[in-house]
Amino acid sequence: SICVVGSLNMDLVINVDNMPKLGQTVIGKNLKKVCGGKGANQAVAIARLGANVNMIGKVGDDDFGQSLINSLKQDKVNTDFVKIRKDIPTGLAFITVNKDADNSIIVSPGANYDLNEEDINDCIDAIKCSNIVVTQLEIPLKTVSYLLKVAKSLGKYTILNPAPATKLSDEIIKNVDLLTPNETELEILSEFQIRNEDDIVLAGRKLLKKGVKELVVTLGEKGSLYMNNNTIKRFKSFKVKAIDTTAAGDSFTGALAVALSNDNNIDKAIEFASKVGALTVTKCGAQSSLPYLEDVLNFKGE
Ligand code: ADP
Repeated sequence: SICVVGSLNMDLVINVDNMPKLGQTVIGKNLKKVCGGKGANQAVAIARLGANVNMIGKVGDDDFGQSLINSLKQDKVNTDFVKIRKDIPTGLAFITVNKDADNSIIVSPGANYDLNEEDINDCIDAIKCSNIVVTQLEIPLKTVSYLLKVAKSLGKYTILNPAPATKLSDEIIKNVDLLTPNETELEILSEFQIRNEDDIVLAGRKLLKKGVKELVVTLGEKGSLYMNNNTIKRFKSFKVKAIDTTAAGDSFTGALAVALSNDNNIDKAIEFASKVGALTVTKCGAQSSLPYLEDVLNFKGE
């Protein structure tokens, strides 16, 4: 099975005609409460693709936390390792969308930023029973660093989706088997300015030198690029009508984990993940857009 360690957020999405200016009040409409957080999104992506998945994370003792847990359960994600903390609120994202579909977002990390090393120790059984551990950067970096060290010492294959983008310590980098940055994330991680595809390779090499074993750089509708110390391979995306690209990166990373956990080679895994990413952009929202295994098997993409 697969273990996802990461964030759970309730997204509160509201539409406005124009974003409020500083000091201004505007009336919004169509308030929606949507389950999100990169950790939870990736766990749901994995479950919908048919794999067993344990979620490790933390929510507050409030209605948002309960809804998030219930929604994960409905998607057959094991939530036994999602802790509930009494005195800290559940993670929230306040998302304002204007009439041009541009958004501005405020994230309140809440309980996500309280996930610590002790919690990882408490959940060690979930890690031990998995062959792959997947994580992102919406929990404290200290926790990510500890988790990766523990996972590697137990001989697990580790996948880090380095989002939201931030610089990482060499300690973190060297315990990552597979890194899945998009172009912006790669640029920040490698501290190397990217202007073209050759630059992507140069930036990727910097990270491989630091000890990352493999790298899949996602390039949106341009597809992706795989690198390890011996090879570079370019993968095309599948042609679809893109409606909303939210969660494409989350579903892509989740799908890679599923395919690799089913013993596929990396080429097959990236092809599968590219189908999943393509299907995700054809629907609106985050978890609402994540495809099921059946959708992927029926997808005759080109
Ligand atoms: P992120 O959301 O992290 O920025 P990307 O936008 O790079 O991630 O998307 C991840 C993957 O999903 C891509 O590598 C690609 O395979 C697929 N994908 C994303 N956008 C599209 C698109 N418009 N058409 C087809 N596939 C897409």
